[in-house]
Amino acid sequence: MNTIATINETKRLLSKYDYFAKKKYGQNFLISSNVVDNILQAVDKDTTVVEIGPGLGAISQLACMKAKEVFAFEIDQDLCHILKENIVFDNFHLENLDFLKLNLNGFLSQINGKKIIISNLPYYITSEILTKVILQSGNYDCLIAMMQKEVANRFVHKADKKQINQLQILAQLCCECEVVCQVNRNNFIPAPNVDSTILMFKNKFINFDIDLMDFYQFLNACFIHRRKSVLTNLAASGYKKIQQDKYITKRVEQLSLNDYLFLYGEVKND
Ligand code: SAM
Repeated sequence: MNTIATINETKRLLSKYDYFAKKKYGQNFLISSNVVDNILQAVDKDTTVVEIGPGLGAISQLACMKAKEVFAFEIDQDLCHILKENIVFDNFHLENLDFLKLNLNGFLSQINGKKIIISNLPYYITSEILTKVILQSGNYDCLIAMMQKEVANRFVHKADKKQINQLQILAQLCCECEVVCQVNRNNFIPAPNVDSTILMFKNKFINFDIDLMDFYQFLNACFIHRRKSVLTNLAASGYKKIQQDKYITKRVEQLSLNDYLFLYGEVKND
Protein backbone atom coordinates (compact mmCIF):
# COMPACT_ATOMS: atom_id res chain seq x y z
CA MET A 1 0.00 0.00 0.00
CA ASN A 2 1.45 3.36 -1.01
CA THR A 3 1.53 6.29 1.40
CA ILE A 4 -1.13 8.76 0.23
CA ALA A 5 0.55 11.78 1.84
CA THR A 6 3.16 12.01 -0.91
CA ILE A 7 3.25 14.03 -4.09
CA ASN A 8 3.41 10.97 -6.35
CA GLU A 9 0.57 9.01 -4.76
CA THR A 10 -1.67 12.07 -4.50
CA LYS A 11 -1.08 12.87 -8.17
CA ARG A 12 -1.66 9.22 -9.08
CA LEU A 13 -5.01 9.14 -7.26
CA LEU A 14 -6.15 12.47 -8.73
CA SER A 15 -5.32 11.27 -12.22
CA LYS A 16 -6.74 7.74 -11.76
CA TYR A 17 -10.11 9.12 -10.68
CA ASP A 18 -9.90 12.15 -12.96
CA TYR A 19 -10.53 14.26 -9.87
CA PHE A 20 -9.86 18.00 -9.50
CA ALA A 21 -9.72 19.72 -6.11
CA LYS A 22 -12.93 21.65 -5.45
CA LYS A 23 -12.44 25.21 -4.27
CA LYS A 24 -15.96 25.40 -2.87
CA TYR A 25 -15.02 22.71 -0.31
CA GLY A 26 -11.64 24.23 0.55
CA GLN A 27 -9.72 21.25 -0.81
CA ASN A 28 -5.92 21.34 -0.48
CA PHE A 29 -4.51 17.83 -0.20
CA LEU A 30 -1.58 17.16 2.11
CA ILE A 31 1.47 15.62 0.42
CA SER A 32 3.86 15.32 3.38
CA SER A 33 3.87 12.33 5.70
CA ASN A 34 6.05 14.33 8.14
CA VAL A 35 3.23 16.82 8.55
CA VAL A 36 0.78 13.95 9.05
CA ASP A 37 3.08 12.50 11.75
CA ASN A 38 2.93 15.85 13.54
CA ILE A 39 -0.86 15.88 13.41
CA LEU A 40 -1.00 12.34 14.78
CA GLN A 41 1.69 12.59 17.45
CA ALA A 42 -0.77 12.33 20.36
CA VAL A 43 -2.64 9.36 18.83
CA ASP A 44 -2.03 5.84 20.14
CA LYS A 45 -3.71 2.42 20.14
CA ASP A 46 -6.18 3.53 22.83
CA THR A 47 -7.32 6.58 20.86
CA THR A 48 -10.48 7.01 18.85
CA VAL A 49 -9.86 9.55 16.12
CA VAL A 50 -12.57 11.72 14.62
CA GLU A 51 -11.45 13.27 11.35
CA ILE A 52 -13.15 16.23 9.71
CA GLY A 53 -12.73 16.22 5.92
CA PRO A 54 -10.50 13.21 5.11
CA GLY A 55 -10.08 14.24 1.45
CA LEU A 56 -8.05 11.58 -0.37
CA GLY A 57 -7.13 9.95 2.95
CA ALA A 58 -3.64 11.37 3.56
CA ILE A 59 -4.21 11.63 7.32
CA SER A 60 -6.83 8.87 7.63
CA GLN A 61 -4.52 6.19 6.23
CA LEU A 62 -1.80 6.77 8.83
CA ALA A 63 -4.39 7.40 11.56
CA CYS A 64 -5.85 3.92 10.93
CA MET A 65 -2.40 2.42 11.54
CA LYS A 66 -1.96 4.22 14.87
CA ALA A 67 -5.44 4.50 16.40
CA LYS A 68 -8.07 2.16 17.79
CA GLU A 69 -10.83 3.49 15.52
CA VAL A 70 -11.08 6.31 12.98
CA PHE A 71 -14.42 7.97 12.24
CA ALA A 72 -14.24 10.33 9.26
CA PHE A 73 -16.83 12.82 7.99
CA GLU A 74 -16.49 13.99 4.41
CA ILE A 75 -18.95 16.30 2.64
CA ASP A 76 -17.86 15.41 -0.91
CA GLN A 77 -19.50 12.27 -2.27
CA ASP A 78 -16.90 11.87 -5.03
CA LEU A 79 -14.12 11.77 -2.45
CA CYS A 80 -16.08 9.23 -0.40
CA HIS A 81 -16.00 6.84 -3.39
CA ILE A 82 -12.23 7.27 -3.68
CA LEU A 83 -11.75 6.82 0.07
CA LYS A 84 -13.83 3.63 0.15
CA GLU A 85 -11.64 2.06 -2.50
CA ASN A 86 -8.34 3.12 -1.00
CA ILE A 87 -8.65 3.19 2.80
CA VAL A 88 -9.38 -0.45 3.41
CA PHE A 89 -8.80 -0.74 7.14
CA ASP A 90 -11.35 -2.47 9.38
CA ASN A 91 -11.09 0.37 11.88
CA PHE A 92 -11.99 3.06 9.28
CA HIS A 93 -15.58 4.32 9.38
CA LEU A 94 -16.55 6.90 6.80
CA GLU A 95 -19.71 8.97 6.55
CA ASN A 96 -20.65 11.24 3.67
CA LEU A 97 -21.86 14.15 5.80
CA ASP A 98 -21.47 17.87 6.32
CA PHE A 99 -19.62 17.95 9.66
CA LEU A 100 -21.54 21.11 10.62
CA LYS A 101 -24.74 19.02 10.60
CA LEU A 102 -23.38 16.26 12.83
CA ASN A 103 -24.73 15.94 16.36
CA LEU A 104 -21.20 15.94 17.73
CA ASN A 105 -22.05 15.66 21.39
CA GLY A 106 -24.39 12.73 20.77
CA PHE A 107 -21.79 11.05 18.59
CA LEU A 108 -18.89 11.50 21.00
CA SER A 109 -20.88 10.43 24.02
CA GLN A 110 -21.21 6.93 22.50
CA ILE A 111 -17.43 6.52 22.39
CA ASN A 112 -15.40 5.44 25.42
CA GLY A 113 -11.75 6.22 26.09
CA LYS A 114 -9.45 8.83 24.65
CA LYS A 115 -10.96 10.90 21.81
CA ILE A 116 -8.94 13.12 19.52
CA ILE A 117 -10.50 15.25 16.79
CA ILE A 118 -8.17 15.99 13.88
CA SER A 119 -8.46 18.03 10.74
CA ASN A 120 -6.65 19.74 7.96
CA LEU A 121 -9.47 22.26 8.09
CA PRO A 122 -11.28 23.50 5.01
CA TYR A 123 -10.40 27.21 5.20
CA TYR A 124 -13.86 28.48 4.28
CA ILE A 125 -15.43 27.15 7.50
CA THR A 126 -12.50 27.13 9.94
CA SER A 127 -14.27 29.29 12.53
CA GLU A 128 -17.59 27.44 12.27
CA ILE A 129 -15.91 24.08 12.83
CA LEU A 130 -13.78 25.29 15.73
CA THR A 131 -16.80 26.95 17.35
CA LYS A 132 -18.86 23.80 16.93
CA VAL A 133 -16.21 21.54 18.47
CA ILE A 134 -15.43 23.83 21.39
CA LEU A 135 -19.08 24.67 22.09
CA GLN A 136 -20.80 21.37 21.56
CA SER A 137 -18.50 18.97 23.23
CA GLY A 138 -17.12 18.84 26.70
CA ASN A 139 -16.56 15.35 25.44
CA TYR A 140 -13.20 15.13 23.62
CA ASP A 141 -9.62 15.15 24.89
CA CYS A 142 -8.06 17.32 22.27
CA LEU A 143 -8.51 18.86 18.87
CA ILE A 144 -5.56 19.02 16.49
CA ALA A 145 -6.31 21.32 13.62
CA MET A 146 -4.34 22.79 10.76
CA MET A 147 -5.41 26.26 9.73
CA GLN A 148 -4.21 29.41 8.05
CA LYS A 149 -1.20 30.77 9.97
CA GLU A 150 -2.76 34.19 10.56
CA VAL A 151 -5.89 32.62 12.06
CA ALA A 152 -3.80 30.33 14.28
CA ASN A 153 -1.74 33.27 15.57
CA ARG A 154 -4.84 34.75 17.16
CA PHE A 155 -5.26 31.71 19.39
CA VAL A 156 -1.69 31.86 20.67
CA HIS A 157 -1.72 35.61 21.31
CA LYS A 158 0.64 36.48 18.51
CA ALA A 159 -1.82 38.65 16.63
CA ASP A 160 -2.75 42.28 17.12
CA LYS A 161 -5.18 42.47 20.06
CA LYS A 162 -7.56 44.48 17.89
CA GLN A 163 -8.24 41.31 15.89
CA ILE A 164 -9.43 39.30 18.88
CA ASN A 165 -12.87 37.76 18.48
CA GLN A 166 -15.42 35.81 20.51
CA LEU A 167 -14.09 32.43 19.39
CA GLN A 168 -10.67 33.16 20.86
CA ILE A 169 -12.25 34.15 24.18
CA LEU A 170 -14.26 30.92 24.15
CA ALA A 171 -11.15 28.89 23.32
CA GLN A 172 -9.24 30.55 26.18
CA LEU A 173 -11.99 29.51 28.54
CA CYS A 174 -12.27 25.90 27.38
CA CYS A 175 -8.84 24.87 26.05
CA GLU A 176 -5.10 25.04 26.49
CA CYS A 177 -3.89 26.03 23.07
CA GLU A 178 -0.40 25.37 21.72
CA VAL A 179 1.44 25.35 18.41
CA VAL A 180 2.39 21.90 17.10
CA CYS A 181 4.29 23.16 14.03
CA GLN A 182 4.30 25.51 11.08
CA VAL A 183 3.50 24.13 7.63
CA ASN A 184 4.67 25.73 4.41
CA ARG A 185 2.13 26.07 1.57
CA ASN A 186 4.22 23.79 -0.66
CA ASN A 187 3.06 20.77 1.35
CA PHE A 188 -0.31 20.76 -0.42
CA ILE A 189 -1.82 20.08 -3.83
CA PRO A 190 -3.04 22.52 -4.96
CA ALA A 191 -0.78 24.90 -2.97
CA PRO A 192 -2.88 27.52 -1.15
CA ASN A 193 -1.92 31.21 -1.12
CA VAL A 194 -1.06 31.11 2.56
CA ASP A 195 1.10 29.13 5.00
CA SER A 196 -0.49 27.06 7.74
CA THR A 197 -0.04 26.24 11.41
CA ILE A 198 -1.08 23.12 13.28
CA LEU A 199 -2.60 23.92 16.67
CA MET A 200 -3.45 21.61 19.53
CA PHE A 201 -6.49 22.58 21.64
CA LYS A 202 -6.37 20.51 24.84
CA ASN A 203 -9.76 20.33 26.50
CA LYS A 204 -9.59 21.84 30.00
CA PHE A 205 -12.86 20.11 30.93
CA ILE A 206 -13.92 23.25 32.75
CA ASN A 207 -16.07 22.36 35.65
CA PHE A 208 -18.18 25.26 36.75
CA ASP A 209 -21.75 26.36 36.36
CA ILE A 210 -21.79 27.98 32.98
CA ASP A 211 -24.02 27.29 30.02
CA LEU A 212 -21.43 27.58 27.25
CA MET A 213 -23.98 28.28 24.54
CA ASP A 214 -25.48 31.10 26.61
CA PHE A 215 -22.01 32.49 27.40
CA TYR A 216 -21.17 32.42 23.68
CA GLN A 217 -24.35 34.34 22.87
CA PHE A 218 -23.32 36.89 25.47
CA LEU A 219 -19.87 37.16 23.82
CA ASN A 220 -21.53 37.64 20.43
CA ALA A 221 -23.48 40.54 21.90
CA CYS A 222 -20.27 42.05 23.35
CA PHE A 223 -18.66 41.95 19.89
CA ILE A 224 -21.58 43.29 17.80
CA HIS A 225 -19.92 46.68 17.18
CA ARG A 226 -16.20 46.56 17.78
CA ARG A 227 -15.89 50.37 17.87
CA LYS A 228 -18.48 50.80 20.58
CA SER A 229 -18.02 49.99 24.25
CA VAL A 230 -18.91 46.51 25.45
CA LEU A 231 -21.50 47.91 27.86
CA THR A 232 -23.20 49.83 25.04
CA ASN A 233 -23.27 46.67 22.92
CA LEU A 234 -24.75 44.63 25.75
CA ALA A 235 -27.45 47.20 26.46
CA ALA A 236 -28.33 47.33 22.74
CA SER A 237 -28.81 43.55 22.78
CA GLY A 238 -31.24 43.76 25.70
CA TYR A 239 -28.91 42.66 28.50
CA LYS A 240 -29.35 44.09 31.98
CA LYS A 241 -27.63 47.42 32.53
CA ILE A 242 -24.30 47.05 34.35
CA GLN A 243 -23.20 49.74 36.81
CA GLN A 244 -19.44 49.31 36.78
CA ASP A 245 -17.43 52.49 36.17
CA LYS A 246 -14.31 50.49 35.40
CA TYR A 247 -15.88 49.15 32.21
CA ILE A 248 -17.76 52.20 30.93
CA THR A 249 -15.49 53.02 28.00
CA LYS A 250 -13.89 49.61 27.45
CA ARG A 251 -14.03 48.02 24.01
CA VAL A 252 -13.77 44.32 23.23
CA GLU A 253 -10.01 44.25 22.71
CA GLN A 254 -9.42 45.91 26.09
CA LEU A 255 -11.03 43.14 28.14
CA SER A 256 -9.58 39.85 29.37
CA LEU A 257 -11.30 36.49 29.74
CA ASN A 258 -11.76 37.25 33.46
CA ASP A 259 -13.43 40.56 32.60
CA TYR A 260 -15.87 38.76 30.29
CA LEU A 261 -16.64 36.17 32.96
CA PHE A 262 -17.20 38.93 35.50
CA LEU A 263 -19.54 40.86 33.18
CA TYR A 264 -21.41 37.67 32.32
CA GLY A 265 -21.92 37.06 36.03
CA GLU A 266 -23.25 40.62 36.37
CA VAL A 267 -25.81 40.36 33.58
CA LYS A 268 -27.00 37.00 34.88
CA ASN A 269 -27.19 38.15 38.49
CA ASP A 270 -30.83 38.93 39.42
N1 SAM B 1 -7.64 15.74 5.06
C1 SAM B 1 -7.28 15.89 3.67
C2 SAM B 1 -5.81 16.21 3.56
O1 SAM B 1 -5.24 16.65 4.56
O2 SAM B 1 -5.26 16.01 2.49
C3 SAM B 1 -8.12 16.97 2.98
C4 SAM B 1 -8.06 18.33 3.63
S1 SAM B 1 -8.90 19.60 2.70
C5 SAM B 1 -8.05 21.05 3.31
C6 SAM B 1 -10.48 19.78 3.53
C7 SAM B 1 -11.40 18.59 3.38
O3 SAM B 1 -12.62 18.88 4.08
C8 SAM B 1 -11.82 18.28 1.95
O4 SAM B 1 -11.78 16.90 1.74
C9 SAM B 1 -13.26 18.78 1.86
O5 SAM B 1 -14.05 18.12 0.90
C10 SAM B 1 -13.74 18.51 3.28
N2 SAM B 1 -14.87 19.34 3.72
C11 SAM B 1 -15.15 20.62 3.37
N3 SAM B 1 -16.26 21.05 4.00
C12 SAM B 1 -16.67 20.02 4.79
C13 SAM B 1 -17.77 19.85 5.69
N4 SAM B 1 -18.66 20.83 5.90
N5 SAM B 1 -17.93 18.66 6.30
C14 SAM B 1 -17.04 17.64 6.07
N6 SAM B 1 -15.99 17.75 5.23
C15 SAM B 1 -15.79 18.93 4.61
